[in-house]
Amino acid sequence: MTDIRITGLRARAVNIPLQYPVKTAVGTVATSPLVLIDLQTNANFIGTSYLFTYTPLALKSVQRMVEELSAVVKDMPLAPFAIDQLMLSRFRLIGHTGIVRMATAGIDMAIWDAQAKLHNLPLVELLGGTARPLAAYDSHSMDDVQLAQKRAADAVASGFTAIKTKIGYPTLEHDIKVVRAIREAVGDAVQIMVDYNQGLTVPEAIQRGKALEWEGVAWIEEPTLQHDYVGHSAIRDALQIPVQLGENWFGPEEMTKAIAARACDLCMPDLMKIGGVSGWLRASALAEQYGLPMSSHIFQEFSAHLLAVSPTCHWLERMDLAGPIVEPTLQFKDGNAHFGDAPGAGIIWREKEVDRFLV
Ligand SMILES: [Mg+2]
Repeated sequence: MTDIRITGLRARAVNIPLQYPVKTAVGTVATSPLVLIDLQTNANFIGTSYLFTYTPLALKSVQRMVEELSAVVKDMPLAPFAIDQLMLSRFRLIGHTGIVRMATAGIDMAIWDAQAKLHNLPLVELLGGTARPLAAYDSHSMDDVQLAQKRAADAVASGFTAIKTKIGYPTLEHDIKVVRAIREAVGDAVQIMVDYNQGLTVPEAIQRGKALEWEGVAWIEEPTLQHDYVGHSAIRDALQIPVQLGENWFGPEEMTKAIAARACDLCMPDLMKIGGVSGWLRASALAEQYGLPMSSHIFQEFSAHLLAVSPTCHWLERMDLAGPIVEPTLQFKDGNAHFGDAPGAGIIWREKEVDRFLV
């Protein structure tokens, strides 16, 4: 076997405009701040991935953290497991979380991408799966009545059979008004998920959740503070609606705590926060053992490959945070995401666009 080694890492920061700002009950993400990672090798291919930093304030620190790690992975083979173990030991004493975990996850993703390119396979096939269509829902914001109806109608017209909306308006009546407006726009056959982005206290969540039970919503996401697993468990006990949680779990270790507290019916780890491909694979084994349907959170291009090899695969979230700067290798049609045949995770930079948004 050829001796393929990592020769370096390049990290670029971009901040790209969004067609629809991500409005939530606890604040707005106005642009998409991304760190683009290119993992260079001694062969004629590179591994690519990107990280989403939520706020431009974290952009430079994440970029710098990835660059700092270049010295650690240089000259190592494309061995994600070994490098993951090395990162764990390097950061044990400060905690393998936050910006550190984001950076190591991005490198993990880029190594897996390079490994798949080495074998000239889509990542899903390298992982032992098949490039099958995946059920996808269109993910919207706190859009209020008019825009919520427009986006819902657009999504259904382009084939989606499920959509998510963010709620947590000042009153329960307002929440209900928006959900009903969406229902009116999409009809009874389309599933509607709701996301509170941690905006409620536990008693409020139970009160609003009980009212939402009459609206036939498919799940209630992060109704209260994400780290309050006991609170989520109480909400879950009080409601018929499935409770969805997971986008803020840093590593499978957080997921383990949430499972122990019986905090959720459904799970949706974030590919970056859970620890990249290596972290996701461990999380998907937990989801299987505890019977938790598993959906993805953003990172649609990469997450599709992982969901396709997750035993409890549920929904792919379509939220296009990198749209302007990557080739559309993942296509959405008939309510499903369809893989292209590009090797790796299918992330191909549109370099002219990248240049436009460089920070
Ligand atoms: Mg969410």
